[in-house]
Amino acid sequence: MNEFNLIEKYFNWTKLDSTTLGIGDDCALVSIEPNNRLATSVDTLIEGVHFPENTSPADIAHKALGVNLSDLAAMGATPKYFTLALTLPAYDQSWLEEFSASLKTLANQYKIDLIGGDTTKGALSITINVTGVVTQNQALLRSSARVGDLIFVSNTIGDAALAWQQLQQDIKPSQQLLKQFNTPNPQVILGQALLGVANACIDLSDGLDQDLGHILKHSGVGAKINLADLPLSEEVAEYILKTNDWCLPLAGGDDYQLCFTVAQDKVSEVKALEKELGIQLNSIGFITKDIGLEYSKRLDQACSAYQHF
Ligand SMILES: [Mg+2]
Repeated sequence: MNEFNLIEKYFNWTKLDSTTLGIGDDCALVSIEPNNRLATSVDTLIEGVHFPENTSPADIAHKALGVNLSDLAAMGATPKYFTLALTLPAYDQSWLEEFSASLKTLANQYKIDLIGGDTTKGALSITINVTGVVTQNQALLRSSARVGDLIFVSNTIGDAALAWQQLQQDIKPSQQLLKQFNTPNPQVILGQALLGVANACIDLSDGLDQDLGHILKHSGVGAKINLADLPLSEEVAEYILKTNDWCLPLAGGDDYQLCFTVAQDKVSEVKALEKELGIQLNSIGFITKDIGLEYSKRLDQACSAYQHF
C-alpha cells in the first residue's frame, strides 16, 4: 500500500466546519475567529521510551493524542486541529486499523480534526501537533500565580507511576492503574471551565514536584504543600504506607491531571465546578512569597523527576 492510500484509508475523516481544507493538498487551511489566539503544542512518543513495547495500538493512539490534548487543557484552550507524523517499522493492516479507530474515537470525543501529517518507515514513533483556540488574554499561564492562592490538583496522582513501576518489576498492575498509565484522560473540560477562575495552571506530565516548580519559577513565588492532602488512590496510599516513597506521586510523572492556583475569593467557584463536572478537585497547599517548594514533612530523599536527557 502506498502512503497516499494508507492516509486515505486510515486517517481521512469528516471535517469540522472550521477546517476549510483538510488532508490532500500541500497544507491544510483553517479559519479562526477574530479575538482568538491559537494555542499549539507538539509531543513525540517513542516505543520503549514513552510506552512499553507490548502496548496495544489502541492505547498508543489514545496516549499520543491524550498527552497533547492535556497541554491544550492546561491553557484552557478548546481543541481544534491536529497533525500526525507516524513512523512505522512496516505496513501492518490490523495495527493501523486499531490505531486509527482509537485515535478517531478520542478525536471525536474532543471535536479535534486530523488535518494533515506524514508517514515514514522506521522505528515506531508517533508525533502529534495539536492546535486549539482560546480567547485573547484568557489563556491559563504558568506565570500568573499570586501569593495567597490555594493550589489545587484534579483527581488523583501517582497511579500511572505505580503501574509503570510494577510493570518494570514484572508485577501485573490493577486495571485501574493500567488505565491511568495507558489511556490518560486529558482534563480538557476542566481546563476550559477554569478560565476566569484559576490564576495559573499546568498539566502534570513530569510529576507535581517539577511541574508545580515551573509555575513557581515563572510566577516568582514559592509554595507550601501539605503531603496529607495529596489526592491519592487507595493503591497509591497503601504503597506509601508500606514504603514511605513520597517521590512516586510527587515525581513519578504521567498523571496528566491539572495543577492550578486559585485566589481565596474564588475557591467557592472551584467547589461548584467539582460538583458540576464530577471531577475531584483537592486543595493541597498555598502560594507563598518565600521562593521555593516546601513540603509539610521532610522527604527521606530529594525526588528526582523524569529527565528526558
Ligand atoms: Mg504540559
